[in-house]
Amino acid sequence: MSEEKKQDIAGATIGRTRRAIVPLLPLRDIILFPHMVIPIFVGRDRSIQAIDSAMEKDRRILFCLQKDSKINDPQPEDIYSVGTLGTAIQRLKLPDGTVKVLVEGERRGRILRFIPHEPFHMVEVEEGGFLGEQTLETNALVRSVVNAFETYAKFNQRIAPEVVASVVEIKDTGRLADTIAAHTGLKLEIKQRFLEIPSLKERLEELHRLLHAEIEILQMEQKIRSRVKKQIEKSQKEYYLNEQMRAIQKELGDKDDFNTEMKDLELRIQQKKMSKEATQKVEREFKKLKLMSPMSAEATVVRNYIDWFLSLPWSTCTKDKLDLKEAERILDEDHYGLKDVKERILEFLAVQGLVKKLKGPILCFVGPPGVGKTSLAKSIARTMGRRFVRLSLGGVRDEAEIRGHRRTYVGALPGKIIQSLKKAGSNNPVFLLDEVDKMSTDFRGDPSAALLEVLDPEQNHTFNDHYLDVDYDLSRVFFITTANTLYSIPPALQDRMEVIRIAGYMEPEKIQIAKKFLVPKQTKANGLAPGNLSLSDATIRELIQSYTREAGVRNLEREIASICRKVAKKVLRKGKHVSIRITPRGIQNHLGVPKFRYGKGETQNQIGLANGLAWTEVGGELLTTEVTVMPGKGNLTITGKLGDVMQESAHAAMSYVRSRASRLGLEKNFYQRIDTHIHIPEGAIPKDGPSAGITMATAITSALLKIPVRNDTAMTGEITLRGRILPIGGLKEKILAAHRGGIKTVLIPKDNEKDIKEIPPKILKSMELVSVEHMDEVLRKTLVLENPENFLASTEEKKEGPRFEITEGVMASS
Ligand code: ADP
Repeated sequence: MSEEKKQDIAGATIGRTRRAIVPLLPLRDIILFPHMVIPIFVGRDRSIQAIDSAMEKDRRILFCLQKDSKINDPQPEDIYSVGTLGTAIQRLKLPDGTVKVLVEGERRGRILRFIPHEPFHMVEVEEGGFLGEQTLETNALVRSVVNAFETYAKFNQRIAPEVVASVVEIKDTGRLADTIAAHTGLKLEIKQRFLEIPSLKERLEELHRLLHAEIEILQMEQKIRSRVKKQIEKSQKEYYLNEQMRAIQKELGDKDDFNTEMKDLELRIQQKKMSKEATQKVEREFKKLKLMSPMSAEATVVRNYIDWFLSLPWSTCTKDKLDLKEAERILDEDHYGLKDVKERILEFLAVQGLVKKLKGPILCFVGPPGVGKTSLAKSIARTMGRRFVRLSLGGVRDEAEIRGHRRTYVGALPGKIIQSLKKAGSNNPVFLLDEVDKMSTDFRGDPSAALLEVLDPEQNHTFNDHYLDVDYDLSRVFFITTANTLYSIPPALQDRMEVIRIAGYMEPEKIQIAKKFLVPKQTKANGLAPGNLSLSDATIRELIQSYTREAGVRNLEREIASICRKVAKKVLRKGKHVSIRITPRGIQNHLGVPKFRYGKGETQNQIGLANGLAWTEVGGELLTTEVTVMPGKGNLTITGKLGDVMQESAHAAMSYVRSRASRLGLEKNFYQRIDTHIHIPEGAIPKDGPSAGITMATAITSALLKIPVRNDTAMTGEITLRGRILPIGGLKEKILAAHRGGIKTVLIPKDNEKDIKEIPPKILKSMELVSVEHMDEVLRKTLVLENPENFLASTEEKKEGPRFEITEGVMASS
C-alpha cells in the first residue's frame, strides 16, 4: 500500500501515524465508531480473555467486525482489516458467565499483521488521527449532511431528539460524520464500507448519499404505512358496525338473520333444477355472497341476481293437450266466424301433435285492431292447456329491452322476454308478441335483431340474456306475433313467420259477434243479469253504423260497455228485476249524438266528387275526393291530412289529365289559367297508401269538364303518368268498406283480380266488381256520360276556349 493511502486511513492527518500491538476483539453484530461509547456483551472465552488481558495493561483493544457473524472462531481471513481502536472503560461479569464491557472508540486502526498468540489474536495496528482538514467544501458538505440527518431523524423514530441536538453541536467534522453514521440504521456492511473510506471529503459525500437514499425509503414506507392504516381502519370500522348491527338485530329477535337466510338460499339453490351452466353460475355467485357484508350494496346486487335465477322456470313445464275436437270446440266457443283462420290454427295444432316438438314457423296474425288477434292467441293457449303471456312490442326501440342490460349497469334487469317467462311460470307458455310492426330502431340498437334470435328455432335454445349471462332455452315456447300491417316489419323477421290475415268483419258478422259474445260478456262484467238489458239487431246495427268506424269490434265492445254501465245505474236505482230494452232511436239517450256519419256514398251524382277506397290501419274506408278548379296561375293545392305518397298520387293524376287534354276537349295550356284544389275530407284520419290515383284523376276530370261522377260507384287503383293502372293492397278490406257504404259498383285494378277469391261470396253477389287496366276506361265507367263509348275517342284539338268556368256547388245529374 502506498504511503499516501496509509496516511489517509487515519483521516487527513498526515505524518502522525503510529503503530501499536493490541489484542483484537472480533465483533459479530455491531461496529464501534471512533468517539462512541457503547456497551458490548462478550460471550466467547477467547474474547473475554482478550479483554482481561487489555484491562491488565493499557486497556486498548482493536474492535473489528467479522465478515460472517455466524462464525464462532474467526480466523484472520474472516475479519475485516479496518476497525476502531478503543479502550475498555469498565468490565462487569454477569451471572451467566458473559461479560459486559463499556468501551470507547478512539480512532480508526488498520491491521498490519496478526501476531501469533493464544488464546486470542494479537495484532499490529496502524493507527490514524481524526483531526480532519476542514475546507470550504467540507463545510458545505457538513451542512447538507446535518440537514439530511435532521430530516432522517424525523422519519426514524429510533433517533431521539436529544441525539440530534447533541450531534448538531459537534464541531469536529470527522467525529460528526462518524457519529451520524453510527446513529443511522444502515446495514453493518455499509457502515463497514463507510468506516473504510480513507478521505474525509469522500466519507461526507458517501454519508450524504446514504442518508438521502434512506430518507426516500423511509418516506415511501411511511406512505405505505399510512395507506394500509387507513384501509385497516375502514374495514375495522365496517366490521365493527356490522357486528353491532347484528348484535342489535339479535337483541330485537330479528328473524331475518343473515345466516339462516343464507342457509335458506343455499337449500333453494340445491333444490332448484336449472341448466348446468346456470347452476354453476349461481353457486359461484352464492360463494361470493357469503363472503360479503350483508348490508353492502354489492350483496344486494348479487342477491337479486341469484333470486332471478331461482324465480325462472328452467324446467317447469305444463303438459300439452292436443285434442283437435276439443280445440275446435274451444275456438268456436271463444270466437264467432273466422272460419279460415280457425282452420289454419287447427292444421297447425295437428302438425304439432304429430311432430310432438314445436319447431314450425311462428304464427303471425295480421289485421286491424279489435279483430280478435290477441283473444285468438289466448284461445290457442287454452286449447293446448298452456299458460299465456303477452308482451307488447309497441314503442320498443332499445335492444336491451328485449335482451336485458349487462349486470354492470346500476339497476340492471333481465330483458322483457325473460321477465315474461318469470311471469308465465312455465318454460312452454304461449307467448304473444303484440305489435311487432310498431317496434322501432334507433341508436340504442335494433330490437328486431334481438327478436330474430328469439324467434329462430335454430338459435333460440341458447338465448343469451345480457343480465343472466347464461343461455336460456326458449325452444319450447310457442311464439305468436301480431301486427296491424306487414310492411313495417323487417323482411328478415317476416321470413320467420307464417302470416295469417284477419281482414275485419262485415256488418252482419259484427252483429252476430255483438249478440253472441260482446253483449253477454259486458253484461256480466258490469254486474247485470241477462234479463236486465236487451239490444235488438237493429239497435246493434245503429251502434255499428253511427258510433263506430272500425274493421274490428273493439270500439263496438266499448260502446256496449258504456250502455251496460248506464243500465247498471238504472238497475241499482229501480231494483234488480228491471228490464231495459234499447231501441235504435233510444241509443242517443245513452251515448249522445252519433259520432260518425256512416261512410255512405253520396246520394246524388256530383261534379268533382269521386268515391275512393282507402286502406288504413283500422281497416278499409270509403273516402270521397273533392276537386274544385278556379281561375288562377296553375297551382295545385292538396289538403286533408295526406301522406307523402298521396301527394305524389295527386301530381301523377294531374299529369295524366294534362296529357289527355286534347282528347278531353281542353285547351293545350288550360292548366296555366286555373288553380286546382284537391281535398279529401272525412275526419282527421291520416291517409296514406298510393291507391287514390284514379279517384283523384276522375274527380279532376269531372271538375274540369263539369261532368258529374256516378255516386254509386267507388274505385281504387294507382295511376301512372300515362294512365296505366297499378295494383293495390288490402282489396278485401276496401270492398268491405264499399259494401258498408252502399256502393253498387267498384272499379279495381286488373292485376288485383287474383284477390277476388278472398272476398265473401255474399258480398260479391250484392255488388259488381269491374276490373280496369287504363284510366280511360275508368272515366268511361265513372262519369255520367251520354255516350261512354265515344268518350276520349277524338284526338282533335279543340280550338275554342276552355269549357270550364268556376265549378262550384252541385249539379244534379239528369
Ligand atoms: P286485437 O288483438 O286484434 O286488437 P282483441 O283480441 O283485443 O283484438 O279483440 C278485441 C275484443 O273483440 C275482444 O274482447 C275479443 O274477444 C273480441 N272479438 C274480436 N273478434 C271476435 C270474434 N270473432 N268473436 C268474438 N269476439 C271477438
